[in-house]
Amino acid sequence: MDAKKVLIVEDEKSISDIIKFNLEKEGFSVETAYDGEEGLKKALGISPSLILLDVMLPKMDGFEICKKVRETSTVPILMLTAKEEEVDKVLGLELGADDYITKPFGMRELIARIKANIRRVDFVENLQSEPSDIQTFGNLEIDMNRYEVRKNGESLELTLREFELLKYLAERENKVFSREQLLEEVWGYEYYGDIRTVDVTVRRLREKLEDNSGDPKYIMTKRGIGYYFRRP
Ligand code: CA
Repeated sequence: MDAKKVLIVEDEKSISDIIKFNLEKEGFSVETAYDGEEGLKKALGISPSLILLDVMLPKMDGFEICKKVRETSTVPILMLTAKEEEVDKVLGLELGADDYITKPFGMRELIARIKANIRRVDFVENLQSEPSDIQTFGNLEIDMNRYEVRKNGESLELTLREFELLKYLAERENKVFSREQLLEEVWGYEYYGDIRTVDVTVRRLREKLEDNSGDPKYIMTKRGIGYYFRRP
């Protein structure tokens, strides 16, 4: 199998060099970019398996790059954030970043996160050979095995995480889960993110599933407790 290619977009050369060194040791092939414009060009030009994207960059910041890449690509993007405000922005905006890690980070954690994000893509690519297991909830059809969702017969574009959250809740209809439980069950114990990630994912999911995301019929909020799935 070809080596997976990781693009590192980071203007601090010392950080970029040490990440590159460690990734190559793990068998990845690595490309680097030291400013935002070069980063965007390479992100779109070299089809990396994952982009490691710093936020503060000369010429164009990481948020802008993330948004631009997402217009045409579903490549996993792991943001490198330095401040709490940046984390807020990654979580709060519709950037489409898959994950973030806060500086300073441990190299072992970074490598684990990179591998986990790439594994998820491989996993989705292999789903097409699975047998269908379609379950119907009102106007929604969820193929639990192939990770496909249709609403009124039309296919919805969900990210893997959005699908996993939907599947988890739909398989446990009417049972209420706290944000902490969902983070642990759907994101997994190795995930270091915070519970706002759950709210952001629920919001995105509602925008895709619901006729009116302000008045949801499928994914319901139980005030002060958490979320549950309801058959409309
Ligand atoms: Ca920087």
